[in-house]
Amino acid sequence: MTASVDSAPRPISSHELLRQLPSMDALLARAHLVALAAEAGRELVLDVAREHLDELRARLAVRDSAPGLLDAVAPDRIESAIAAEVTRLLTPSLRAVINATGVVLHTNLGRAPLSAGALQHLRETAGRYSTLEYDAATGRRGKRDAHTSSRLARLLGAESAIVVNNNAAAVFLVLRVLAQGAEVLVSRGELVEIGDGFRIPDIMAESGAILREVGATNRTRISDYERELGDRTRMVLRVHPSNFRITGFAARPSLEDLSAFARTHHLPLYEDLGSGCLADLHADGVAEPIVRSSLAAGVSLVSFSGDKLLGGPQAGVIAGSRDLVEEMRRHPLYRAMRVDKLVIAALESTLRAYLRGTLDEIPVLQMIRATPLQLAARCDSFLARLRPALPPGASAEIRPGASVIGGGSTPDRSLPTHLIALRSPIYSADALELRLRQPARGAPVIARIADEQLVLDLRAVFPEEEPELAEAVVSAMRA
Ligand SMILES: *Cc1c(COP(=O)(O)O)cnc(C)c1O
Repeated sequence: MTASVDSAPRPISSHELLRQLPSMDALLARAHLVALAAEAGRELVLDVAREHLDELRARLAVRDSAPGLLDAVAPDRIESAIAAEVTRLLTPSLRAVINATGVVLHTNLGRAPLSAGALQHLRETAGRYSTLEYDAATGRRGKRDAHTSSRLARLLGAESAIVVNNNAAAVFLVLRVLAQGAEVLVSRGELVEIGDGFRIPDIMAESGAILREVGATNRTRISDYERELGDRTRMVLRVHPSNFRITGFAARPSLEDLSAFARTHHLPLYEDLGSGCLADLHADGVAEPIVRSSLAAGVSLVSFSGDKLLGGPQAGVIAGSRDLVEEMRRHPLYRAMRVDKLVIAALESTLRAYLRGTLDEIPVLQMIRATPLQLAARCDSFLARLRPALPPGASAEIRPGASVIGGGSTPDRSLPTHLIALRSPIYSADALELRLRQPARGAPVIARIADEQLVLDLRAVFPEEEPELAEAVVSAMRA
C-alpha cells in the first residue's frame, strides 16, 4: 500500500507508546489469559507476561520514535504473544515422528527406537522403586552394574564390561584412565571425525593422552607402529572409521597382527568400534565388525554405542580384559559418567533379546533385515490402502531404491528397498515434503526427495504407523 505524505501517521514517540502499554492487571483480566491461567497456572502466565512487558519496555527505551513497535504494543498483540509462549512451553517439543527416510539409525531422529520389551520393562521399573543397587536375596547394597555386566560379558566373550553415558564418554574414560600423560599410537587413517564435533584428536587432547600419529592416511604397516614406539608409549588405539572408507591403494594391519605387536610390547590394544554390532549381519548386507570377533582377535579393550546397531538406549559399553575394565570402574570419573535406571532397564531388556536369540524383537535389526521382497509386499498393501483415498490427479507408484543404515555404519553399502514415489498435480516435491513434515494433526512425517520426486521408504516405518502415514499422505496431497 502506498500512503501520501500528508496522510502518513504522525511518528509516535516511544514515550507515548510506553504510556499506552497495558498494566499487568488489565492484561491478566483479558479473557484468553484468564482461561489460560486456569489451565496452565497463574504463576506461569504472570511470569511470561512480566517478561514480555519488560522486553517491550526495553525495546522502547532504546528508540526515540518507534513506528515498528506500534503494533507490538497493542493489547491484542501482547495477549496473543503471551498466550503463544505459554502454549509453547506447555506443549512437548520432543515428539514422535514417522521416519519414512529409509535411514534406520537416523541421528537427528533419535537413532535406535526401543523394543517393546524394553519399553515394558521401563514402564514396570521406572515409575516405582527397583533393585537398581539392591540385592533382594541378601538385603544388602548391590551394584547397578549387575544388571548389564555379566550379560554383556557373555554376549561379547569378554571378561568384564561396564556401561557409561555414550561411546564418546567411553573413549574419553579409556584414554584418561589408561593413557593420561602418555603416548597413544593411532594410524593417520583413523583420526576421524564422527559427527557433531566428535574428533579423535580433540578427545585425546582433552583426556590428557598424547597422540602419536602412525603411518600414512591410506597405508599403515606394523613397521610404522614400531617406528613410533617409545618410552612413553602406553597404548595402541584402533578406531573403526565408521562414516567413511579409504579405498584404492590402502592397507592397515589385521587386528591379529596389531594385537600381536601390542602384546609383544606389553601395551593394551584398544578398539573404538563405534557401532557395536553384536549379531552377524553379513548375510543381511551389513559389513560391520562384530564385537566378539575383535576380542577374539586379541584386542584388550573395546568400546561402542548402545543406540547404534545394538539397537538399545544411548549408552557406551566398555568391555575386555578384567584388569583394565576394573581400573576404569574404580576411577572417580566413572561415577560422573554412570548411566541411570532408565538406560539400565532398556539396555538389560535389549541384551536379554540377544541372549534369547530373538533378534527381530529389536526394531533396528528387524528393519535392517527386512528383505526387498517383504518391503515390496508392504508397499503393495500400503498402496491398496492409499490409492482409493488420493485426490484426483495425484499418484503413488512403487520404484526400486536404496535405504541406508546410518549412524556411521557401513557408509559404502546400502540396502535394496522399494520406494513409494508421490506426485501431485498441485504441489511440488518440496511443497509435499513440507506439508508432510507439518501436518495439521498427527505425527510429522519425515520423507526424502530423490530425482525431484517425493519418496517414502517403509523400511524404518513401523507397520502400526502405516494407517497414520496413509492419512498424512492423503491430507498433504489435498488442495
Ligand atoms: C558413533 C561413534 C562414536 C560416538 O559414539 P556416541 O555413542 O554417539 O557417543 C565414537 N566413535 C566411533 C567410531 C563412532 O562411530
